[in-house]
Amino acid sequence: MTQSVGFVPTMGYLHEGHCMLIRASKQENDITIVSIFVNPLQFGPTEDLVNYPRDIERDKNRLEAEGVELLFLPKDDDIYPNKISGMVTTVAVDEAFSSRACGTFRQGHFEGVATIVLKLFNIVEPNRAYFGLKDYQQFVLIQRMIHDLNLKVTLHGLPTHREPDGLAMSSRNTYLTEQDRVLAPMINKTLHEILPLLREGGSIADGRGIFESRLTDLSSRFRVQYLECYDRDFNPVTTIIEGERVLVTAVYLGDVRLIDNSLF
Ligand code: AMP
Repeated sequence: MTQSVGFVPTMGYLHEGHCMLIRASKQENDITIVSIFVNPLQFGPTEDLVNYPRDIERDKNRLEAEGVELLFLPKDDDIYPNKISGMVTTVAVDEAFSSRACGTFRQGHFEGVATIVLKLFNIVEPNRAYFGLKDYQQFVLIQRMIHDLNLKVTLHGLPTHREPDGLAMSSRNTYLTEQDRVLAPMINKTLHEILPLLREGGSIADGRGIFESRLTDLSSRFRVQYLECYDRDFNPVTTIIEGERVLVTAVYLGDVRLIDNSLF
């Protein structure tokens, strides 16, 4: 009998959010493979590729403690032997999709994500793949890619794992100063504060205004990049009241860009 393979792709600097995905995979598969690869193709020229937090020894210990059978830890040259500039083929992402939310501000990001995930799927050949709903737009992109390109992998999306104070866990939280770490949970708290207003028929523009003013009243260190609302397939919506929605945001806290969302 062939063994089932569960796959958890990551960029490392592992935290409890990653471990949740790993535990789900271990429960449902014979073998779990975790990859750690900080993918240059999905970073813009002014983004944090070089400074992205890395600690492979710590990650290896964590994976061992979780009982992960296999770590795939490729080097840039393993993944891009002809360098990125030498690639002829990449995965194209529909412009309408990549001009929404994060895509508006991270040009080429989702093409980079789709391309690396497809490459990793082809290398690892998993039966099931585990992604976090914290990166909701990314999750929908992978869901669509699997559907559009007839990939033979089953996608599982797991809820956002949070610190006790509500901050969504992220490798990038390590960039926060001590003072900013105290402010950071206000992003999720404020997101939830405006949900009743939207449910009662308030416009997204009003919601954004309130979200922004509440955060910037708290501290001038907050700068809202976007607050947008979509249906669960990440299509734009005109009404909030009917159907399931996702409210997505990116907020700068000082120089650190944090994303969060709420499914409602
Ligand atoms: P990353 O290493 O940040 O690229 O994340 C690797 C995977 O872990 C992605 O599928 C993320 O959505 C997921 N992930 C990251 N943070 C969290 C979290 N706080 N809760 C759940 N999943 C997460």
